Amino acid sequence: MATTTDAPAGRAVPGEDNLFTIEDLSVTYPSTDGASRGVTALEHINLNVGKGEFVSVVGPSGCGKSTLLSTVSGLLTGFDGRITVRGDTITGPHPNVGVVFQEESTFPWRNVLKNVEFGLEMRGLGKEERRKRALDMLSLVGLEDFVRSYPHHLSGGMKQRVAIARTLVMEPSILLLDEPFGALDEQTRIILGEELLRIQRALDQTVLLITHNIQEAILLSNRVVVLSARPGRMKAVVNIDLPAERDSTLLATDEFAVLVGKVWSVLREESLKAFAQEQKQDQTNHEETAHA
Ligand code: ADP
Ligand code: MG
Repeated sequence: MATTTDAPAGRAVPGEDNLFTIEDLSVTYPSTDGASRGVTALEHINLNVGKGEFVSVVGPSGCGKSTLLSTVSGLLTGFDGRITVRGDTITGPHPNVGVVFQEESTFPWRNVLKNVEFGLEMRGLGKEERRKRALDMLSLVGLEDFVRSYPHHLSGGMKQRVAIARTLVMEPSILLLDEPFGALDEQTRIILGEELLRIQRALDQTVLLITHNIQEAILLSNRVVVLSARPGRMKAVVNIDLPAERDSTLLATDEFAVLVGKVWSVLREESLKAFAQEQKQDQTNHEETAHA
């Protein structure tokens, strides 16, 4: 595997304890017709993440990024390898793991406060306590003036803040995000990214972010993992040696451009492969239709 880190590939920063590990993870989806071999989405993924670390995963479309998140979140079982959080092996949804998806995931019939309180309610927390925690979290994500609003009155960016608050209020050890800003315009995406970084620092939260946006990955992370075209393998791990205190003004610096170049050089090659795979698949589908 190509790596641009000084530390061994896939290892947490030395000195930090591993909060979360992925050991030799491979995932194959069974075929639907039973005849073919099925689709291998991920192969031999190894990753250790330390407490408070922010790690992003980038890779071409269809390389297995969402599959990685589904397995880590316990939503997908039947994989090879092992995933542990604080030493616990993940075999299904786990209270230490919080997930935010790209799609709209707020409850439209609950106001913002009630959305954030939902999980705490399920956990059986008393009204006072859950209200207090939800309000604290809403103020952390900058929504203190919208607690009585309903999701349909909010912008896409604000809804994503609600989704993030709702997950973080459960105090997960690790926060998983699958392209959480994918549906937002570029400016909102950058601003929300900065917000996420501020919250992550304030809570010393451990984060695994899936994104297709190279700049977002670099701006927010301590490390960026680049996956290969399907089956997704770890192609490179790029250490992001930017100052800990950062914001989007870094986007215009030479230092930043060098990092973008590093990630893109690996990702470009893999994206071209993924593109060729897709074209081949299209052609096969076309031939099958023609012969049918
Ligand atoms: P990404 O998020 O990187 O775009 P995914 O993890 O969604 O990629 O998908 C990886 C590969 O696995 C793709 O080829 C996709 O078609 C396939 N795949 C995803 N989910 C399923 C599923 N439930 N059943 C069969 N194949 C799937
Ligand atoms: Mg995906």
